[in-house]
Amino acid sequence: MLREVFGYDAFRGQQAEIIETVVAGGDALVLMPTGGGKSLCYQVPALVRPGTGVVVSPLIALMQDQVDALAALGVRAAFLNSSQSLDQRREVEAAYLAGALDLLYLAPERLNVADTVRLLKGGEISLFAIDEAHCVSSWGHDFRPDYLALAMLHDQWPDVPRIALTATATAATAAEIVTRLRLDDAAQFVASFDRPNIEYRIVAKDNPRTQLLTLLRTEHAGDAGIVYCLSRKSVEQTAAFLEQQGITALPYHAGLDAGVRARNQSRFLREPGLVMVATIAFGMGIDKPDVRFVAHLDLPKSVEGYYQETGRAGRDGAPATAWLAYGLADVVSQRKFIDSSEGDAAHRRRLSAHLDAMLALCETVECRRVQLLAYFGQAAEPCGNCDTCTSPPQTWDGTVPAQKLLSAVWRLADRRQRYGAGHVVDILLGQATERVTQLGHTDLTVFGIGTELDAGEWRSVVRQLLAQQLLGVADGYGTLMLTPGSTAVLRGERTVALRREAPKTARSSGRRKSSVAAAAVALDGPAEAVFERLRAWRSASAKEAGVPPYVVFHDSVLRQIASDAPTSLEALGAVSGVGANKLERWGAAILDVVADQPPTSAER
Ligand code: ADP
Ligand code: ZN
Repeated sequence: MLREVFGYDAFRGQQAEIIETVVAGGDALVLMPTGGGKSLCYQVPALVRPGTGVVVSPLIALMQDQVDALAALGVRAAFLNSSQSLDQRREVEAAYLAGALDLLYLAPERLNVADTVRLLKGGEISLFAIDEAHCVSSWGHDFRPDYLALAMLHDQWPDVPRIALTATATAATAAEIVTRLRLDDAAQFVASFDRPNIEYRIVAKDNPRTQLLTLLRTEHAGDAGIVYCLSRKSVEQTAAFLEQQGITALPYHAGLDAGVRARNQSRFLREPGLVMVATIAFGMGIDKPDVRFVAHLDLPKSVEGYYQETGRAGRDGAPATAWLAYGLADVVSQRKFIDSSEGDAAHRRRLSAHLDAMLALCETVECRRVQLLAYFGQAAEPCGNCDTCTSPPQTWDGTVPAQKLLSAVWRLADRRQRYGAGHVVDILLGQATERVTQLGHTDLTVFGIGTELDAGEWRSVVRQLLAQQLLGVADGYGTLMLTPGSTAVLRGERTVALRREAPKTARSSGRRKSSVAAAAVALDGPAEAVFERLRAWRSASAKEAGVPPYVVFHDSVLRQIASDAPTSLEALGAVSGVGANKLERWGAAILDVVADQPPTSAER
């Protein structure tokens, strides 16, 4: 199946073991990072075992693309969801009952309907695949209540193997999936979560849009990428800003009309080099291979969320950038969000712990990758491909500045007023602003005792003390407060190590002229010309078939074809990624393009 249908030579990582388990009728839980190759783990068994593989997925907007991609491989796939007309649904149901489907994609809410269970009982099921299985976790960032009902699959179809898959990897999430989906007997497969081709960078937020623009212009001109913002408003403003700067950018958030969202998503998948500016409503299941950067303009709420979002970059294995700008205001607004969130104290504590872990990642002086993987319980060596590795931040003894700052906070504490970081820093710098003067704060003993640092450096001290939990935020207004840890610092019982911000120009612009060209097979002049012809051909064929270009062939496959310059269908079929169906459909046309012949044979 792997060779014939998918055109690949070998399984990757644990795919073979996972597939053997499921083919033999066993349950499996698969934790694998984005781009790791999860789909094959249920697609191959569904083709091998008799009956239809039922895939439960929350990604309604992507089902059409998924089914189209399978159709291009010659796999008989269909979906049932609320976007269809009654007639369309009837047609799919009839095909299922007739045993004419290899794979059937379902939205989870369908399984809560008795009719669907009755329908499924009328056919033969080879397996259940529960995709994005972390959606069953009520504490996670993608909770879907409908997933809870999936526990019934075990009772209703005790003999049908179930495979649950997710790219969210903490042990806590895995344990929750096992309990809630009743996967106690499932074999667990945990892949390495490292994504070595992604470069992680976290910078202090200064003027975020300008910083973003610099990143796009100097390192990612013409590249496809995703920019994440927290609010709908900032999504729209950022997209408009990029457009003004001549960068084609599309907005995406839950407040946009469904038609607009579908159109923007489809354009992002089909047209090269677009920037999607989005809230986290966008991205789950997006399998566009050549996303070259993921930029965050606001602090993500958890390390899990951050890792999922950044994981959408570089699925093709070529170099990609994960870039995040964060500042004090992010910390304040997230504390406010946590304080005002629904749920009990335990829930708020959990949200707080997520934020603290995210802050610790931002302020670490160690390799970001080591820290990220440690969060998922995996060990790693310093990677050489993150900002802290390539320009190690210096650490300095910040005990005295920390004491100054904390005593200023302490002196302001009982005045029943709200003083954010800006006011405290003004006092330390001895700036007699209107507010400082009005409040009589020029008389405080701490007034003007902190002139050894500038305002930016003080803000960095505040952020780092927050990250180390030596300082807290009392409310949604950013009022600073002391924490249990502050006392030891004030008493001189512990020292405080701080990181010095890397100089802003740390990165030479244009270090990487074309990140894509750096990937995989290097092509010489003539082969490069063939590659360009193949891309043009792919673009036209994809348009004609109404699918994204990468559904026809990935760049890496076209590159290999250009490099091999096959002259026979047999040689072409030997290229990894060229399966039997694609060979039959497009093989002759490709050989013509390689030979630079005008097309002799029309497409089948
Ligand atoms: P995931 O669902 O884990 O994010 P996918 O299933 O989309 O990842 O796979 C990522 C990419 O890797 C896809 O383009 C897929 O075709 C490719 N791939 C998966 N398994 C193999 C393999 N054994 N050999 C070659 N390519 C593979
Ligand atoms: Zn590193």
